[in-house]
This record gives sequence, C-alpha cells and structure tokens, in this order.
Amino acid sequence: MMQKYMETKKEYPDCILFYRLGDFYEMFFDDAITASKELEITLTGKSCGLEERAPMCGVPYHAVDGYLNRLVSRGHKVAICEQVEDPATAKGLVKREVVRVVTPGTILSTQNLDESKNNYIMCIVYIEDRYGLSVADVTTGEYLVSEVENSEKLFDEIYKFSPAEIICNEAFYMSGASLNDLKDRLGIAISALDAAYFDDALCARTLKEHFHVSSLEAIGLDDYNCGMIGAGALLEYLYETQKTSLNHISRLTRYAVGKYMILDNSTRRNLELCETLREKQKRGSLLWVLDKTKTAMGARLLRKYIEQPLIDRTMIEERLEAVKELKNNAISREELREYLSPIYDLERLVGRISYQSANPRDLTALKNSMDMLPPIKYLLEDMKSPLLARLCEELDTLEELCKLVGDAICDEPPLAMKEGGIIREGFNSDVDTLRNAKTEGKDWLTQLEADEREKTGIKNLRVRYNKVFGYYLEVTNSYKELVPDYYTRKQTLANAERYITPELKELEDTILGAEDKLYALEYELYCQVRDSIAKEIVRIQKTAAVVAQIDVLTSLALVAERNNYVCPKINERGTIDIKDGRHPVVEKMIPNDMFICNDTCLDDRKNRVSIITGPNMAGKSTYMRQTALIVLMAQIGSFVPASSANISIVDRIFTRVGASDDLASGQSTFMVEMTEVANILRNATRKSLLILDEIGRGTSTFDGLSIAWAVVEHVSNTKLLGAKTLFATHYHELTELEGKIDNVNNYCIAVKEKGDDIVFLRKIVKGGADKSYGIQVAKLAGVPESVTNRAKEIVEELSHADITSRIKDIAVAGQETKQKTKRLDEVDLAQMSLFDTVKDDDVLKELKELDISNLTPIDAMNTLYQLQNKL
Ligand code: ADP
Repeated sequence: MMQKYMETKKEYPDCILFYRLGDFYEMFFDDAITASKELEITLTGKSCGLEERAPMCGVPYHAVDGYLNRLVSRGHKVAICEQVEDPATAKGLVKREVVRVVTPGTILSTQNLDESKNNYIMCIVYIEDRYGLSVADVTTGEYLVSEVENSEKLFDEIYKFSPAEIICNEAFYMSGASLNDLKDRLGIAISALDAAYFDDALCARTLKEHFHVSSLEAIGLDDYNCGMIGAGALLEYLYETQKTSLNHISRLTRYAVGKYMILDNSTRRNLELCETLREKQKRGSLLWVLDKTKTAMGARLLRKYIEQPLIDRTMIEERLEAVKELKNNAISREELREYLSPIYDLERLVGRISYQSANPRDLTALKNSMDMLPPIKYLLEDMKSPLLARLCEELDTLEELCKLVGDAICDEPPLAMKEGGIIREGFNSDVDTLRNAKTEGKDWLTQLEADEREKTGIKNLRVRYNKVFGYYLEVTNSYKELVPDYYTRKQTLANAERYITPELKELEDTILGAEDKLYALEYELYCQVRDSIAKEIVRIQKTAAVVAQIDVLTSLALVAERNNYVCPKINERGTIDIKDGRHPVVEKMIPNDMFICNDTCLDDRKNRVSIITGPNMAGKSTYMRQTALIVLMAQIGSFVPASSANISIVDRIFTRVGASDDLASGQSTFMVEMTEVANILRNATRKSLLILDEIGRGTSTFDGLSIAWAVVEHVSNTKLLGAKTLFATHYHELTELEGKIDNVNNYCIAVKEKGDDIVFLRKIVKGGADKSYGIQVAKLAGVPESVTNRAKEIVEELSHADITSRIKDIAVAGQETKQKTKRLDEVDLAQMSLFDTVKDDDVLKELKELDISNLTPIDAMNTLYQLQNKL
C-alpha cells in the first residue's frame, strides 16, 4: 500500500495527497506534518517498512469538505485519491486513483464560497513584451480571454477580477512583477506551471477539441497568440485538476480591455466600490447601497457592473432607459422581483450538473427556478425600452426541460441519489410496479400472518424482520406445540422460536428484490434526466445571464426610487454638471436627511481644475468622492443621487486620497503618495477624472507646496494633460493660481465661526478658505484645552514673526515661561510668503544654469529682463 502511495505522490509533488483508506483520507510524511498543523489534527505514525514510522494524520471522509476548504483557502493544493473499485469485490489491493485536484481557484463546494462573488482562476502568459490573460470560474462556466501590452494594464485586470489563484508561465514569474504584493496582501495563490502547458500547438489542440471546432478562427483566436496560449494553458490546467467533463465551460469570451472604464487598485479601494477601506466589508460600500438583487447571479453581475463601468454612450443610455422604465413601472417591477426571488443560482447549478455532482434536490431547485421564467417573460413583453425588449426576446423559458424535471422528479426528493424516493409516480411504469411490490409487500405479509394464524391456531404468531435472517415467523414458547411440519426452525430464544417457510421466503425475495431493483432503476432514470439537462447547458447558461441582467436592472430601479436618485444625462462634450449631488453612502450613514448636497461643475474650458480648500473635517473628501461616485454610477447605468446630472463619459478615474494602509508594504507614506502621483500623471488622459487629496502632505512644507503647485500646473495644462481635476489642499497659497491659470477655480467648504468654535456648514462655495481652523478642529476632536489654548498663543506669535527663529524663541519662552519674547526685526521673513520663496528659488536656479559664454549680449539682456519680471 505504501509503495502505491509513494508512486501516486510522485505524480503530485506540489499537492497534499488525501489518500482514501476506508472511511478516512490519510496523509503521510511531509503532507501529514503540514496538514496536522493547518488543520489542528493529531499527528500519529504508521510503520511503513522503514526504520522510522511515517508521520500520518487523517480526516473522516464525510467531513472532508471543511478540511479541504481550510487547506485550499490557505493556498495549498490538494489531490484527492479515491478507491475506484468496490473493496468488497476487489482482489488484492483496492485500486486507487487521483480523481480531482482541488486548488484555491477551482473549489467546487459552493457552500464554502460566497455566492455573491465569483471564484476566479487566472492564467497569465508573458511572451515578447505582451501579456495574455485568461480567467475562468469553474463553478459558473464563465471563461474570458484578453491581451494587454504592459504590466500596468495587466495589474488593473488582476485587481478587477481579484482571482483566488493565478497560474503563469515562468517568464511572467521571473519578470520582476510584484508577485509578493499579490500573494501577501491579496492572498492570491500564484504558481508557475511547467513550460509544456504553454506549448502553442498543444494549447491550440486543447482549445479546438474542447470547443469542437477545426480552427482557432472559429473561436476568434486566430490573431491572438498570447491570449490563445493563456486560454489554452488554463483549460489544460482545469482538465488536469478537475479530471471530468467541462461542458459547462461552453463559451470563450474575448474581451478588449478598452471597453470599460479603467480603475486602478488604489482607486477601487479609495472609492470603496465593493468593500470599505478599513474593515474590508460590504456594508458601507457603493455595492452595499446598490445591491437589492434577488438572485446570486444578479448579485455577481452587479458587482461586475461596478467593477467595470462602461465607456460606450449607447450602452450606458440603453441601461439607463431600462432602469427608467422599471423605476416608473413599480407594479411590474415588484412583480418581477417576486418571481426572481425563488430563482436559484442557475450558473452554479449548471456547473454541478456538468460535473455530475448535482443531487436530486438540485434538480427540483432547477425546476422551481424554471417555473418562474414564463411569468417573467410575460411581464417583460410589455416593456418598451430596447434593452428590456431584447432581454425578453433572449429569455428562453426552458419549458420542456421544466416539464421533464417536473414529470420525472418528485417534489421533495432526498439528497442521496441511490436510495430511491426520487422518481415521481406515473413517470415510469416499472418504477411504479416495483414501488407497489415494496408497499404491497407489507400487505402481503400481513395477509400471510393472518393466514398462518388461522391455519395453525397460533394466536400471537408474528411476521418479523431482521438483517441476519430476513423475514421470519416468531412463535412464543406457549404455542410451540402447534408449530406445523412445514415450518423450518432458524433460531431459538429464551421464550420464543423463529421459523421460516418457503412461501415466506418467496415473498421476501419479491419484496427485497423489488427494493434493490427500484433503487437501481430510480438512479438510472435520475441520471438520464440529469444528462438530458446537461445537453442543454448552453441554453440554461444564456437564460441565467438574462435573469442576472433583469435582476440587476430591477435592483437599480428600486434603489433609484427608494433613494430619490435621478436619471443622469450622458454627454461627450466633457461637461460634468451635477446639481445638488449627494454621497450615496455617506447620506445613508448619517441620520434623517442631514446630508447637505452640493453642486459640481467641471468642463473642458474654464472649469477644468477645482482647488478645494477648507478645514479638516469640513467635507472635502466626501465632496470629491461623491463626484467620482456619481460619474461612476452614471457609467454603470445607474441613476444618481442628485437633483440633476449631466455627465461626460470619462475613460478613467484616478484617486490619490490620504495615507493608505500601504505602510504594511514597507514603503514610506510619502513614497507611496509620489508613486501614485507618478502613475496618475503618466496614465491619465484629457478624458480622465482626477481626485487629488492633499498632494504633497508627506514632506516638508516647501517641497510639498512646490510639488502640489507643479501638479496643478501640469494637470491644468491642455498641452501636457488637461484632465478634469478636483484638488483638495491645505496649502492656501495654491488659491493664488486662480486667475493665473485660466481654467483653475477656487472653491472652499464653508464654515461659520461662533465665538471660539466653528460650525461646519458642509456647503461648497466659490473662493478660497482664508483660515485652516486647525485648533478649532483639534478642540472638537477632544484635544485637552490646555494644549489648544497654548496652540492659540503659538499661532498668534508665529503670525507676527519669522517662522524658524520664532519657533526657537517660543520654545524657550514655553520653558522659561512668561519671559518676554524677543522680536527679530532684522530678518522679517514673515513678510515673505511661501509663494515668493518659491519664485525666488526658480530665478536663482535659472541664473545658475545660464550658459553665459554662449549668450549674445541681446540674449543676455532679454534673459535678465525675463528674470526680473519673475521676481
Ligand atoms: P475632510 O476631507 O474635509 O477632512 P470629510 O470629507 O472626511 O472631511 O468629512 C468629514 C465628515 O463630515 C464625514 O465623515 C461626514 O460624516 C461629514 N460630512 C461630509 N460632507 C457632508 C455633507 N455634505 N453633509 C453632511 N455631512 C457631511
């Protein structure tokens, strides 16, 4: 046995091998050591012909799912080796085979997966400076392929799908991409596969065989070498691990990265699209507000909508129109939702049917779901909007499948497939006869008991049953004398004897035989039904996709109505004009309509960049995020929280918001900030929307201000970038840019002074803030009064004198108390604003860099004149 074990283990060196022995899966050697630690189970030993006993541990087969998931969710792969012969009939060692390899990206047991999320596996190949990527969800059959030309785009895709597992070629693994980040922070299991998986010819063959086509052209991959290899290698890997039919992977969708708005990872996280930044939970995210879906498929699709907003005006408007119709037609919408509600996760159900792991209850669930399709179609028939009309047309109501399951499978079948009770009466006459034999058999036995009592005069004679003798007649000792000759004695007890008769044994054969036959027949019929459904997988998948869309659109309509959203107008002129906009999440978090709404106006002319000032806590980041979220919502086809909105399609949204939790990755806050700024400035286009919060905060004031300043100049300059930008800053000096650059405008969030305190008005108004109110905010936050009072004194002093020298003085004054502070009138730097210093520095720099020996006198005059003008 151990020899066999070693042979199998050799084939799966990177997996933990679950080796079936009787009622347990056993693990040996290093596998046992790893598993016992991860699963907290006892490590024992087994003698295996070596000097030392082999470390061993095991898990009971009926509880295997939980253990499997624990190992897999920690990034291990598990190979399951089953007995493939019946131990009762096998000669010698029972034959065992690995029937499946479970990896993080290929878990099937849906009870352990979040049904509102896809569980993706992604394959990445890096060939000659291009990346091919392919993604699949084995539970639903979704299968996609794409190509991108640089690692930034690739990473955007990785973050978008956030797969549970990535497989890749060696070239990608060694390419220096930040894999550790993916592994450690996102918990993605990454492994490089053998080069054989990525062989062109093999990949092409696997794909052609899987889709039953003779050329790659038929599946649209002829001009897509990298993508083809990615998709092929992924499919091979799935065959290798699943070892079963993958019929439900019925379609390969090639998608272009440019079809959707691009969102990088920090923007996804900062805008809290699907989970919150800190707690990583759905509550508090945009998804949480928008998700009123009724089905698991709808929930997954809505998440996808949010993860990849559209950039095509027609498609956006089509969705908006559908949402509008469903919003206005509340009665039909509510009815639709009622019919959607009982629909099970058809996509994953189909996966189980394809894997032949669907149980009888899965089939009734399928039937109950299909029952809902005709009324849904009926309701959609009245809808006018093109998208809903198309969905209505595409909705295949699968009536004959529904009838088949309805006729064949009874209403409440058991989970087990081989213990009968599955097939409905009237579906198959043999089943009915056998079932009658089983139930009527009971009557026959009662009759036989009565007849024998009559014949023999034994009044308490009983027909009984046990596993050893089958049916027998029991006679108590008091009637022993009356037992006739044709009774054969089988057993003597203290106060009774047990007999059989030929007639009883004949009955027994019919009854028990009927049961075995019935169970076998029911199983066979069940498999036939399941297989007929398996043939229609593609139709069911299409229906599931339609149902998911209807679910998402009705959910968006309901949310629009409940939350008082409006339908945004879409334009391509570059104008973002939001009236009375609200933050969709914050307005839900604060009590009874206390949210103060604000306008946003950005365009490609005078209003390209808004500089937003205001004290901490005034509401600057809420305002900027609300603008980004409203644009994003419009582009997924949702109504938006505003009284009116005209939204120009943006190609990307970038955010650089506060210090994020990247500290864990070992970079300084400032480095992270600058890396993000670099990414934005390099990748943004004129059509992008930029949300920049407190750029330059992580370094000294002069550096920070200079960087912030230069960034505003860069983004506002149409020759360099010219992206629409909301720029929150605490450098009031930046407000000087209004008027100097003609598309930059100042806004601030108003506060009201009330004696020593301030009241936040949360209203955005034109103009720059003149004070930062830091001390008042500190006071509000509960900083002790002794500190805030002292801070006030320091501010007073600082505002009168040179900053650096005065700080020293104030410090001394603080220690020596009451000592009158000295004024430093000689160098009154306080008169020189930070702003001037920056200008002087520029002039000095230019002077130093002048190549005087090559200047003509006229050039020199001109240069001097220009420099003087700068001062
Ligand atoms: P800042 O970025 O200026 O420091 P935030 O945007 O973080 O301020 O806002 C601080 C708090 O003020 C938020 O947590 C929110 O509860 C509240 N707030 C912000 N904007 C509004 C608003 N328009 N209406 C009501 N409350 C708001």
